[in-house]
Amino acid sequence: MRHVLEVQETVRTCADCGLCCTEAHNSVRIVASEARRIAAHLALLEPRRRAELMARVEGSIKKYRLTASRKTHYTCPFLEADMRCAIPLDVKPVACLAFNPLTQDACDQEPEWYAAAHEVEVTASRVGMEEPSLKPIPVALMDALHENDARDTPRPLR
Ligand code: SF4
Ligand code: SF4
Repeated sequence: MRHVLEVQETVRTCADCGLCCTEAHNSVRIVASEARRIAAHLALLEPRRRAELMARVEGSIKKYRLTASRKTHYTCPFLEADMRCAIPLDVKPVACLAFNPLTQDACDQEPEWYAAAHEVEVTASRVGMEEPSLKPIPVALMDALHENDARDTPRPLR
């Protein structure tokens, strides 16, 4: 996060851009811990705002026919009309944090920042020995919300 803020101040700001979050470029896929962080953030929002964002999430799944395994470009549902991201810095997936302006005119994924942060998320998302799968943000989020629902639903008494 410190690196992102530094880039914004020293290289260029992302304000009013958002191009990398549109279907022209965005194919971000995340693991479960990143999705759980977004789900926890949404749970703190005012209900109307949460419903608005969730409608966008569901709309993007339909529009781009997103599935867990389909690798495709999609406009992120958290990209606002003014091209800002609706997700705060400390909640953003690491792929988003690691994609930054390198110069005034060029942006790219910075593998040296992505690799270490991604490894932390992989460790947090691992269940047993199984490697966590990467899914498009909207799909991973829906899975995290369903996990929450399943956990909160009382088990029937036998
Ligand atoms: S990283 Fe580059 S393309 Fe993405 S919002 Fe910032 S300036 Fe625009
Ligand atoms: S979460 Fe934000 S930064 Fe990441 S792809 Fe979506 S709009 Fe872009």
